[in-house]
Amino acid sequence: MANKKKNKTRVAFKKNRQKTVRIQDLTKQVIENAEGVADFQSGERLSGKGDVSRYRTIITDDDAGRSIEGEADNCSGGKVLSAIGSNNVSVYCDGVIYRCTVRRVVRTLSRSARSAVVAGDHVLFTKANNHSGVIERVEPRTSTLSRNSRGEAHIIVSNVDQAVIVASVAEPDLKLGLIDRFLCSTEKGGIRGIICINKMDLCNPKQLQPIIGQYARLGYTTLLTDATTGQGIDELRTLLVNKETVFTGQSGVGKSSLMNAIQPGLALKTSHVSGDSHKGRHTTRTTTLVEMIGGGWIVDTPGIRQLQLWDVAKEELECMFIEFRPFVTRCRYPNCSHTHEANCGVRLATETGSISPLRYQSYLRIFTGDDSWSWALQSKSH
Ligand code: GDP
Ligand code: ZN
Repeated sequence: MANKKKNKTRVAFKKNRQKTVRIQDLTKQVIENAEGVADFQSGERLSGKGDVSRYRTIITDDDAGRSIEGEADNCSGGKVLSAIGSNNVSVYCDGVIYRCTVRRVVRTLSRSARSAVVAGDHVLFTKANNHSGVIERVEPRTSTLSRNSRGEAHIIVSNVDQAVIVASVAEPDLKLGLIDRFLCSTEKGGIRGIICINKMDLCNPKQLQPIIGQYARLGYTTLLTDATTGQGIDELRTLLVNKETVFTGQSGVGKSSLMNAIQPGLALKTSHVSGDSHKGRHTTRTTTLVEMIGGGWIVDTPGIRQLQLWDVAKEELECMFIEFRPFVTRCRYPNCSHTHEANCGVRLATETGSISPLRYQSYLRIFTGDDSWSWALQSKSH
């Protein structure tokens, strides 16, 4: 075996252990969670330097560290399809699904044990018998989609490349404001937003040309589809190849129909991947990646299809309307809200036609908190 190399790593303290740090007022220095410390690997050091001690150094020189240094050759790369706790993780590798557990050091190195391994993660894992294995390392995530629960953000899926924002021309009516809202969210998440306008059988395509033009000028791909006849489906399918994609949009616009048109059964498969029938109820509540025949992944999470993917704060809204960016610097006031101020670069650009009035209207509605889109936050019960 190769020489073991000691790795020192600084990791954030878990929240329930933060009270053990040395603080200025020594009389209040009560170690509340001392028993929790015994649970850590030996070779770990705590450093007691005020704020700095919210981090700790761990030395990974035991079994847990072996795949990180030295034996990475014995590991395989895989993609996590679903993770139900750390003992039931489905990892996809070369057409096979492995049921994996998570090496303890991976959990220790994670900021939150619950988010140590999530659907979408690229992992290195050691294969064992009967399509089982142990996850040794989680590769850095390119993007994460989180849900807030009791003040804590839980990552529900990682490495999403793009979101297909589905709207329909009728039944329900086309709401450009809602498309803009979803676009802000994808900009915030740092992923590509693709606009898909469905139910084209219910309108004349010519009517949509100005709208397509508006988004095309901003660099957003816009597709026109009809899930009932298959119009635009090949184009949509092509955009999904080798990507990890989320479908999002108002209820009833045709997301499930589109997914099933792309690949029959795609929108229905969510509960089957992990395969445990006695856990059926549990698995249907779990984020799952569904494989595309031509390569790529569709993220399917109960309720995610109507969720606003990433929350955008008012102050950052101006940057999420990407065409506003060059004009924001021309406002007289640095904290300009672009709603009413004099000498506002954004308003001037709207008046002179550099910014679409429809997009500016969307900005105003979102900024002023017009609540008419609040249903977008509600999840669909499956
Ligand atoms: P979801 O809630 O976004 O997943 O929407 P569904 O896929 O469940 O579709 C809602 C309704 O719209 C269903 O009755 C579909 O048959 C219908 N629908 C979906 N796509 C189209 C389309 O392209 N044209 C028309 N006319 N109806 C569609
Ligand atoms: Zn302004």
